[in-house]
Amino acid sequence: MTDRTPLMVGNWKLNLDHHQGIQLVQKLAWSLKDAEHDYEAVEVAVAPSFTSLRSVQTLIDADELGIKLSSQDISSHAKGAYTGEVSAEQLTALGVDFAIVGHSERRDYHGESDTIVGAKVAAAIAAGITPILCVGEKLEVRQAGEHVSLTLSQIDGALEGLSAEQVADVVVAYEPVWAIGTGEVATPEDAQEMAEAIRARVAETVDPDVAAGMRILYGGSVKADNVAAIMAKPDVDGALVGGASLVVEQFAAIAGFR
Ligand code: PEP
Repeated sequence: MTDRTPLMVGNWKLNLDHHQGIQLVQKLAWSLKDAEHDYEAVEVAVAPSFTSLRSVQTLIDADELGIKLSSQDISSHAKGAYTGEVSAEQLTALGVDFAIVGHSERRDYHGESDTIVGAKVAAAIAAGITPILCVGEKLEVRQAGEHVSLTLSQIDGALEGLSAEQVADVVVAYEPVWAIGTGEVATPEDAQEMAEAIRARVAETVDPDVAAGMRILYGGSVKADNVAAIMAKPDVDGALVGGASLVVEQFAAIAGFR
């Protein structure tokens, strides 16, 4: 039995200013305290906009909340003439624990290729930040029956050139694009099929022990009332949550799925 601590990450996307972000985290912390949440048993992280990271981090630290901090993206560049980018080093200085990398909205709206995503994964690891590598297929790919091969090619592309030691620091989030923000949830069996396939691929191309220890999250319209069935699957180790992470009661319930 491999010990993979479940991880629940709230991706706030382009929502909430820093005042609202602080309020949400404070309420979440109260709610989790009421529920006697064990942060060591189930890790909880929030991913605010870059502009809110500092405020949220200050609150988390001051009140020793136990909630972890993620960015929604990270630059593949260390420094220089890259207007608008935020580097891994800058995020490390803010106490960021995780960085979401290769979210489908970045791939779609900002043209991020597997090569760019791979460079971001490497930049995060080098700075001591755990990348949450997002992969997943669009509806037409699933309908064509090519969802597994497409998703595994994204895994191959993003992990190419990384050592087993580096890959051991990666969290993967399987997010079928057709299930993100749509209310369409993949079945627990769909999530398990892909998580199992990803783990097998990493075992084959990287290292069996690294694969066995890798946390694989599911993302796509996760809510309080469907999380338990998804988490019951043996290869699913957590959730990346968009819309429901903005609702305290929902996200607190998701975090306490057991
Ligand atoms: C996401 O943005 O990663 C996501 C899974 O969103 P939602 O939960 O709203 O589908």
